[in-house]
Amino acid sequence: NGSEAFEALTVETLPARLGGVAALSSRIGADASAWKVREVGDGNLNLVFIVEGGEGAAIVKQALPYVRLVGESWPLPLKRSFFEYHALVRQEARAGEGTVPAIYHFDEAQALIVMEYLTPHVILRRALIDGRMPPKIARDLGLFMARTLFRGSDLSMKARARKEDVALFADNAELCDITENLVFTDPYYEAELNRHTTPQLDALVAELRADRDLKVEAQKLKHMFAANAETLVHGDLHSGSIMVTDEDTRVIDPEFAFYAPMAFDVGMLLANFWMAYFAQAGHEAAGDREAQRSYLLGVIDETWSVFRAEFSHLWRTERTGMLYDRRLFEDRGDAFGAEQALDRMLHDIFVDMLGFAGIEIHRRILGLAHNADFEAIEDADLRARCEAKALKFGRHLAVNRERIQGLDEANALAVRIE
Ligand code: ADP
Ligand code: MG
Ligand code: MG
Ligand code: MG
Repeated sequence: NGSEAFEALTVETLPARLGGVAALSSRIGADASAWKVREVGDGNLNLVFIVEGGEGAAIVKQALPYVRLVGESWPLPLKRSFFEYHALVRQEARAGEGTVPAIYHFDEAQALIVMEYLTPHVILRRALIDGRMPPKIARDLGLFMARTLFRGSDLSMKARARKEDVALFADNAELCDITENLVFTDPYYEAELNRHTTPQLDALVAELRADRDLKVEAQKLKHMFAANAETLVHGDLHSGSIMVTDEDTRVIDPEFAFYAPMAFDVGMLLANFWMAYFAQAGHEAAGDREAQRSYLLGVIDETWSVFRAEFSHLWRTERTGMLYDRRLFEDRGDAFGAEQALDRMLHDIFVDMLGFAGIEIHRRILGLAHNADFEAIEDADLRARCEAKALKFGRHLAVNRERIQGLDEANALAVRIE
């Protein structure tokens, strides 16, 4: 039970240890000795088990006191599970049931979450590598981001409630520290854990690390990330944190949740779509990927336009927080003033989003945590050609983001870049 000292679960010990958890046994079957357990975690940090009983299945996700990918030499607090749980609860309340896995049980001392087993869902990154085109992702993810980011901010929440929540999530400092260093700093110098496709990319990597304008922008974006507690972000919203079928889209794995700029989640997600786009040339052995490329550019465009439309809708109908008080605008007949403020905010989110996207692209090619999109390309020369285009595109986004007029311009550049 929850008060016992932490102990990592194994496939063998899980049934005996969780057999008494009614929230689990009532869903999958009371006879724990008959449960079938598989460990399926393919992530970098945690254990994930599928537990199947006579009446159903569930997921048990447990944090470890270190980074799974690296080992015990890199300790990481178990409390990330607490933040994942609290983020899932808030995301479901803000974006609606069925946007994240349903939560059945949380045990803080054991750092474990029992949740809905998503099936036949697959990880979106995998689907995109395989050339699949799930039709609903842009709409579902645009809505998810607009609703979670708007409703977690001072545009919506009561000021004290939000400040208390900022204080709660402030303790997620170690995971934030990973983002701050691995995303914004390490890619731009010879950090120990970095790697890139070598020797093919060596010259370009040296050029980027000598690029003063780029490094200044990366640090400016890091400053925004660290100093602007605007809303509760997912914090790790890439295509490996999304599970899909053609009908359903779910966001998982919010253990990096933190108060940060709205544009962070949007930029990270679009960056991962752009990387999927650049990686397509590496997946053409079994047939050309032209249709997949247009699908991806369409997804980028639609995700942003759905985000924009829903954010605008919430601005007009749900602006109940302390910011842009209706008494200053609509209530005195100045709806135009509120629209002007909305346009400015959307413009700022757009510009910052491009910057975060550029940096995210760089860290996935130069840093510790790479993407399967590129890693799955076995031919290193071919992989490097895809990665080089992505790196140059990311540099353009980060440095020139204030001069980019819209997503059409960004997507046209992605098509043309050499
Ligand atoms: P980590 O924090 O270690 O990255 P994730 O939450 O991303 O862990 O989960 C790792 C993998 O486990 C996912 O890529 C997915 O394959 C599987 N998984 C996680 N949660 C679920 C779920 N609710 N339903 C089905 N599979 C899941
Ligand atoms: Mg994950
Ligand atoms: Mg749904
Ligand atoms: Mg994770």
